[in-house]
Amino acid sequence: MFLIFSLWAASVNAQTTRPDAEKQLAHDIYKEFIEIQSGFTTGATTPVAEAAAARLKAAGFSDADIFLGGAIPKKGNLVVRYHGTGARKPILLLAHIDVVEAKREDWNMDPFQFIEKDGYFYGRGTGDDKAQAAVWIANLIQYKKEGFKPDRDIIVALTADEEGGGPYNGVDWLLKNHRELIESEFALNEGGWGEESKGKKISNDLQVSEKYVLNFRFEVHNKGGHSSMPVHDNAIYHLAGGLQRLSDFGFPLKTNEVTAAYFSQMSKLDPGPFKEDLAKAATGSQEAMERVAAASPAWNATLRTTCVATMLEGGHAINALPQLAAAMVNCRVLPEDAPEYVQSTLEKVVADDQVAVKNMSNFSKGPASPMRPDVLNAVTDITSSMWPGVATVPIMVMGATDGRYLRSEGIPCYGVQGFFFDRDDIRFHGRDERLGVQSFYEGQAFLYTLVKRLSK
Ligand SMILES: [Zn+2]
Repeated sequence: MFLIFSLWAASVNAQTTRPDAEKQLAHDIYKEFIEIQSGFTTGATTPVAEAAAARLKAAGFSDADIFLGGAIPKKGNLVVRYHGTGARKPILLLAHIDVVEAKREDWNMDPFQFIEKDGYFYGRGTGDDKAQAAVWIANLIQYKKEGFKPDRDIIVALTADEEGGGPYNGVDWLLKNHRELIESEFALNEGGWGEESKGKKISNDLQVSEKYVLNFRFEVHNKGGHSSMPVHDNAIYHLAGGLQRLSDFGFPLKTNEVTAAYFSQMSKLDPGPFKEDLAKAATGSQEAMERVAAASPAWNATLRTTCVATMLEGGHAINALPQLAAAMVNCRVLPEDAPEYVQSTLEKVVADDQVAVKNMSNFSKGPASPMRPDVLNAVTDITSSMWPGVATVPIMVMGATDGRYLRSEGIPCYGVQGFFFDRDDIRFHGRDERLGVQSFYEGQAFLYTLVKRLSK
């Protein structure tokens, strides 16, 4: 009995993590990346890119297959190509190597020291996004060691300026200046992760699409005058009326391919009283969608485009009628809603021609990635074989990743990691960022198998 049990335990262990030498390599690269300060304002990504390049060269990758460069000398990117037979178009594996700033005094330890403690790896970037960056490089080196011959090239891009540089560097820069380096059939990136609750794995999220951002300025101009002789036609009142009508308004509730699949999966996983409504929302029931949206700001934001006032300005003196009143309105738009639709809807809602609605965004629409069955099936199969009972849940995220640049240039992008985080204790961008030690190694094994399956 004991013997059978230990054999079983050994084989489970063998399935969920890679052999020790591979784990060690991933660990060492991860540590090296974390300990290089690549904070968006104070650090540099070029040393991270160079460290990765050195690892790759030591493993036999040729100079011709490694690119180092970027828009800004200290904020470099790395692109490396692993050659397949060329039967199919390449796959792109993306991770960003810049991190959000971290101050020593805000943390319980040095954020730029890689510390293993109580079953976790601590350090800025352990979750966002250096685990994936390290694993992409470690696994690529392992494929080479094995002599793995994929049907397509496997390209890894480690990029800068995801955390605030916005366009002009990183993925955007590569697309505009070296598109041939990252030209691919589809990409894998951050954006989806495993959700754990009270120590139990719940779901492995596959990010298929994301909302995009539009910023509007509501602006009212008026000739003003002396405040001792007020008139009805007041810039602040025009603006306030428009904002009040906006606050009473909700964009239509609807689902798309991705969010319908999400609600359908959530209806099976939700322990609360919303099981039935979630299932009905997935099939498009308006009443159910209303109840689901009312129950949670996150579900509400999943079901509709949202626009909310975030900043105000107006008036120039306490004893003068205002000549200007303005508000910034931040919209998070469903991929299927066009900017023109959002603008014309806002104009109708405001319903006052004194209030100009100006689109302040230069960014156009970010399309959803089509739900590729090969990606969805591979993630589902590997997830359920590594973690029986854990569901694969397609998601649309409310925030934004670099995947938007790829999607808008016609390269579908999927967020998936296989790293699990406590959904009630997400520390990305925050204090004492960490990733479970076992979860790091399981993510390594998950991505190892996933990329092999998608490129064979
Ligand atoms: Zn990130």
